[in-house]
Amino acid sequence: MELIKFIEMYEKMFDLKEKRHEIEKEQGYCTRDWNKMTNEILKLYVEINDLKMKCKKKDNEISISKEVILECAHKLPNHKGKCKNLHGHSYKVVLTFKAEPDKETGMVMDFSDVPTKLLEEKYDHQYLNNFMENPTAENFIIEIHRFLKKKGYSPNIIEVWETAKCKAFKTFMENE
Ligand SMILES: [Zn+2]
Repeated sequence: MELIKFIEMYEKMFDLKEKRHEIEKEQGYCTRDWNKMTNEILKLYVEINDLKMKCKKKDNEISISKEVILECAHKLPNHKGKCKNLHGHSYKVVLTFKAEPDKETGMVMDFSDVPTKLLEEKYDHQYLNNFMENPTAENFIIEIHRFLKKKGYSPNIIEVWETAKCKAFKTFMENE
């Protein structure tokens, strides 16, 4: 997220400098437009510097993860193979939260506060097609993210292991 903002700001600054240079060539510097652009560029410098400090602070961030096993049934209506039949999986869902550890507790989040229990209550021993039209591992991630968001949680990464060998995962932006 910050990186995109960073690039956008740099691009904006580059454009402004180009435009300012044009004005300088045509009208000379110290005109009204030249001054206006110089102020904008200075403002961008400050913003970019703030963002840089913020990113540096993020170097101290640590990720923590907790997993839960959910026994669920599903079928994939559009699948051409055997997945169109009703069957079950022992899904392993892994939630990852990333933050700078709290100064007092030394924790990103207490492991017991990672909301795996909420997932168990909602999805364990359920038929996933009741929650989604096409419950692929990918769509299950979107469903879990939406549900946890409503409960006030924003994991940075959600992994859904459909089998011991196959998983889907997504990294979420801070404001997603
Ligand atoms: Zn399946």
